Amino acid sequence: MFPYTELKQQDQQVYDAIRAEERRQLYELELIASENHVSLPVLETMASVFTNKYSEGYIGKRYYAGQENVDTIEGLAIDRAKALFGAEHANVQALSGSPANAAVYFAIAQPGDTILGMSLAHGGHLSHGHPVNFSGKLYNFVQYGVDPETHLIDMDEVRRLAHEHKPKVIVAGFSAYSRDLDWAKFKEIADEVGAITFADIAHIAGLIAGKQLENPTPLFDVVSTTTHKTLRGPRGALILCKEPFAKEIDKAVFPGMQGGPHDHINAAKAVAFKEALQPEFQDYAKQVIVNAQTLAQSLVDMGHVIITGGTDNHLMLLDTIKSKGLSGQEAEHALEQIGVSCNKNMVPFDERSPFDPSGVRLGTPAITTRGFKEAEIKKLAQWIDGALSNADNPTELENIKAQVREVCEQFPVAGTV
Ligand SMILES: *Cc1c(COP(=O)(O)O)cnc(C)c1O
Repeated sequence: MFPYTELKQQDQQVYDAIRAEERRQLYELELIASENHVSLPVLETMASVFTNKYSEGYIGKRYYAGQENVDTIEGLAIDRAKALFGAEHANVQALSGSPANAAVYFAIAQPGDTILGMSLAHGGHLSHGHPVNFSGKLYNFVQYGVDPETHLIDMDEVRRLAHEHKPKVIVAGFSAYSRDLDWAKFKEIADEVGAITFADIAHIAGLIAGKQLENPTPLFDVVSTTTHKTLRGPRGALILCKEPFAKEIDKAVFPGMQGGPHDHINAAKAVAFKEALQPEFQDYAKQVIVNAQTLAQSLVDMGHVIITGGTDNHLMLLDTIKSKGLSGQEAEHALEQIGVSCNKNMVPFDERSPFDPSGVRLGTPAITTRGFKEAEIKKLAQWIDGALSNADNPTELENIKAQVREVCEQFPVAGTV
């Protein structure tokens, strides 16, 4: 998008990397479920001089001078976030999803408190209590997972664990789960044991904002989300909560966790939230799901094994061992060779290691932003099947890569050449 004239003169190496990345994003397909392509207005805003500003504190209560414009953009971001999710309170300063979750735990629990969260191996996130993560180190996490038969979250197990461990907080949310969550059931169980409800909607925020998935915000005490996944904004996060939690959440973000907010990013959050409030964003969210369901069904029709057999959202887990006898690593590599990016992923009850698990995770947010609809998705399913069936056939992989590239040229990516 930018001419980068000054950068080119100043730093050829970084300039070249940016141009190469523009070509990579344009000529290849992004199926990493947590990624998306932001709009030009969002990109422009991130490149603004708001990056120069320091503004520790909140609107009207800052520790530095010169805040009139920062207050404007932060106010817009807050108002739009509240409108988007029907929230009583919004904090837009959290720098990213994991720091946002840290702030939430700081606000509503004490180190050592018991918290119930979904296991990473079953589709949860690192920050939901994994032992290598701050969450697992600071808090006494108890982990729930999916049913061995159905691969759906076992709500009976959630209830049993809640009654047995009496957690301070129950976390509902995931990074690799393709089915709807039963928010009301989580809330019911939390009420039975007096736990605070915390929804982490990082992956599905855009589908909720686009009114295609149920919104937990009216029901839950606290909700966190990244802003850069299906919500299609800049890298960052957002915390929503009920009024009684507002003061503690704000204090936990600043000064608890962070110093100055990233004002250029918060300005871009405001821009992205405005985009998400438009009726067209609902069409986008709907198409993301239609595309994911079309991809899952096409793959199943070709004999592939999709965990739970399909999807209710933007992502799916493909068991590549069962489908084609390829490990997740091998499948990721084969797809990379045809210009399709995804990530290797554990499947529930995986017997292989996280470094070379049994499957890959596929998602449709980015390709839907480019304009992919069912017709292109069916071609994509053919390419995926072709790559996984010819993982050791470089000629065939090259052949498919050429077809991918040809279609990519018809579906531009904002900000690329
Ligand atoms: C992506 C994700 C996060 C973390 O976001 P980062 O911005 O990468 O720190 C937290 N929770 C869930 C459920 C996620 O999917």
